[in-house]
Amino acid sequence: MAERRVDPDDGVAYTWEEFSAFYKGKYKRNAVEEYWEECEPVKKSKAKDKAKGTGKGEPKAKAKAKVKAEPKAKAKAKAKARKPPGAFKVCVCGGAGGIGQPLSMFMALDPNVKELSVFDLDIAMVPPAGVAADLGHLDKKSEVKGYEVKVGKPAVTELDAECLKGCSLVLIPAGMPRKPGMTRDDLFKVNADIAKGLVEACAKHCPEAILALIVNPVNSIVPAMAELYKKKGLDPLKIVGVTTLDCVRASKFVGQITGKNPNFINVPVIGGHAGVTIMPVFSQDKTAASIDQDKIEALDKRVQEAGTEVVDAKNGKGSATLSMGYAGARLGRSILAGLAGRRRVECAYVKSDITDLPYFTSKVVFGESGVQKVLPIGELNKYETARLEEAKKALKTEIETGLKFAEANELNC
Ligand code: NAD
Repeated sequence: MAERRVDPDDGVAYTWEEFSAFYKGKYKRNAVEEYWEECEPVKKSKAKDKAKGTGKGEPKAKAKAKVKAEPKAKAKAKAKARKPPGAFKVCVCGGAGGIGQPLSMFMALDPNVKELSVFDLDIAMVPPAGVAADLGHLDKKSEVKGYEVKVGKPAVTELDAECLKGCSLVLIPAGMPRKPGMTRDDLFKVNADIAKGLVEACAKHCPEAILALIVNPVNSIVPAMAELYKKKGLDPLKIVGVTTLDCVRASKFVGQITGKNPNFINVPVIGGHAGVTIMPVFSQDKTAASIDQDKIEALDKRVQEAGTEVVDAKNGKGSATLSMGYAGARLGRSILAGLAGRRRVECAYVKSDITDLPYFTSKVVFGESGVQKVLPIGELNKYETARLEEAKKALKTEIETGLKFAEANELNC
């Protein structure tokens, strides 16, 4: 009997055939697949009850009728075409921190994760072994282990090699959040050294893994680490800057203005990941494109400055950690789905030749080997064309900071 999953939109359980038939033509196939991955599977008896109908599943019931009319063999072939979940090992560096904990939790829930390493320092607010023990009680297939290194000691020699060995994905929120009075350059100096230490350990123990860098300032840290990878003879496209939170926020804010479900809003955010370099392309999402142009400038600013909303609301006692954990995991899940053969498209900040800048955020296809293709910007309206120039000008300087760091340093591994 085909597996049924509950669509949170209406609370009804559907098979993949019913689900995909309903959403076919309304959303891109990979968006529908991604949404399916988020739906909770139900036990057989429950599925039967739900499938009988709660009265809420009207539109999809129509789709069901259509699906029923399809030859069984065709439906079966479709089901067979779906690949089984992967069995990947993932590490979260800084996994006991503000972002690291929720991020580790989301990754432990991913059906593509077989093993999760939670790595942090001995000064973390909770020992990583504690985070691992806690997550290890979730009724999921992932096995979670904690790893610790003494502060000030290099991960490349001090971290138990088992932590990174065999990893397909390493998520890196390790680093310091910006404190009041700190410039971006001050933050870069501290966090570039932290990132370098971790990238060295990855280059030694899991050089084939995708390294998703969350640590700020992303605009400079990613070019620095990717160029260091290149210098070492490794693939710079293994280094991916996480900008997903900007997309999550843009879609949420568009949902708030339009009253539409943000689950089905997908505003690409291009450029970089700080201030004016964050450039939401509202014209490329159907729902967002319906918003009057006179509201767009304020919306654009809100996305750029959304981090401050959280810092202020937390009264200086932290920045975005929960939404960042969610966003980081969304990218992490897409990367793993891609590695498992189900390609996904997400915006990410990577080495790129789609503009005259060597690093840029745009839509990226994640597939069997990680970054499969960096997609072009696409069509922009007049407002966005002007914004692109502004974003590129600011981003250029921040990239140069990273390139200078890479010139002056190398990976010691
Ligand atoms: P946090 O201080 O709560 O957590 C950071 C964790 O990293 C701590 O547990 C710390 O012990 C650990 N750590 C530090 N150095 C380490 C090392 N060398 N090896 C292993 N672990 C190490 O901070 P946070 O709020 O979780 O933020 C982490 C980073 O993420 C900051 O740089 C912040 O600016 C950035 N951030 C990025 C985004 C984004 O969208 N990309 C959003 C929010 C925050």
